[in-house]
Amino acid sequence: MDDVIIIGGSFAGLAGALQLGRARRKVTVLDTGLQRNRFAGHSHGLLGHDHKPPLDILAEARRQLARYPTIRLINARADSVSGALDDFSVFTGDGESLGARRLILSYGVVDQMPEVPGFAESWGTSIVPCPYCDGFEVAGQHWGLVWSGPQSHNQVRLFHDWTDRLTVFTDGHDLPPDVRADLARRNTPVVDGRIIEIARHGDHGATVKLETGAHVAVDILFAHPRNKPSASLHESLGLATVGTPLGVVLKVDERRETSVPGVYAAGDLTNPLLPSVTTASWQGAMAGIFAQQSMLV
Ligand SMILES: Cc1cc2nc3c(=O)[nH]c(=O)nc-3n(C[C@H](O)[C@H](O)[C@H](O)COP(=O)(O)OP(=O)(O)OC[C@H]3O[C@@H](n4cnc5c(N)ncnc54)[C@H](O)[C@@H]3O)c2cc1C
Repeated sequence: MDDVIIIGGSFAGLAGALQLGRARRKVTVLDTGLQRNRFAGHSHGLLGHDHKPPLDILAEARRQLARYPTIRLINARADSVSGALDDFSVFTGDGESLGARRLILSYGVVDQMPEVPGFAESWGTSIVPCPYCDGFEVAGQHWGLVWSGPQSHNQVRLFHDWTDRLTVFTDGHDLPPDVRADLARRNTPVVDGRIIEIARHGDHGATVKLETGAHVAVDILFAHPRNKPSASLHESLGLATVGTPLGVVLKVDERRETSVPGVYAAGDLTNPLLPSVTTASWQGAMAGIFAQQSMLV
């Protein structure tokens, strides 16, 4: 039996495994290789790894984990989980049955692409979610923002640190008069109408085609599609979740323990506010440390 099984071996999961391996705990990491930022050419903002391809960062992390004899990395999907504290079972897509005293769930979320031609094809290059991740490279250029709800108003305020040239696409949302007045005060044009197609051009550029017949070109488009957890294992364990404007995340306490004793969670699966490689790594490390400390005699 393992001390810990980690489900999802990307930034959060591998950071947890590193702490557990260094504490000489037996840990198995299951991963299917579908990290959220795999569409991006470069990852930004992680100290020491800025502007590197995200898959290179993970490959280097896996190489470093090979030093630790108690860590096992398996390319397999966790299909089902059951059990309770000190006696969890995980069944993999390859038919393997594993047991562990603790679980760490770090299987991330999937961004749900709208059925707009060109949107999915542009995701990670011409359409991106996060200015901290991709804003510096296109600072001062003409940005577009696809409105996704009241939270988009904060994005407008945030984006001013990178550019004064922003266009808002309402994409069928009704913007309240006070919001429209604020956008007008900021000299931020508002383009009404549903988006029906996105055409990529250049490295980051996108032309937004609207149902009204209008075409608007921007140098980069920011959007926040809804997302959902990459697996439903938390449902079979009965874990508490929290609703957010873009999806649900798992509820965790300050030790990263979920509502079920012995089950810890980290990364985007728990983090609606500032999902990033840095926060996922930090949360994964904390989950590993607190899972280990919960097993002290
Ligand atoms: C387009 C884009 C660009 C981004 N750019 C940046 C950036 O520049 N800088 C930055 O800091 N952040 C960036 N991010 C955010 C970053 O990708 C995430 O915050 C980060 O990947 C979260 O790490 P994680 O470990 O929680 O989840 P993920 O990296 O999404 O990893 C989850 C892992 O779990 C695996 N998995 C899922 N289900 C199972 C299962 N049942 N069994 C086993 N394994 C499973 C998946 O295959 C995946 O490998 C970007 C995001 C997007 C969408």
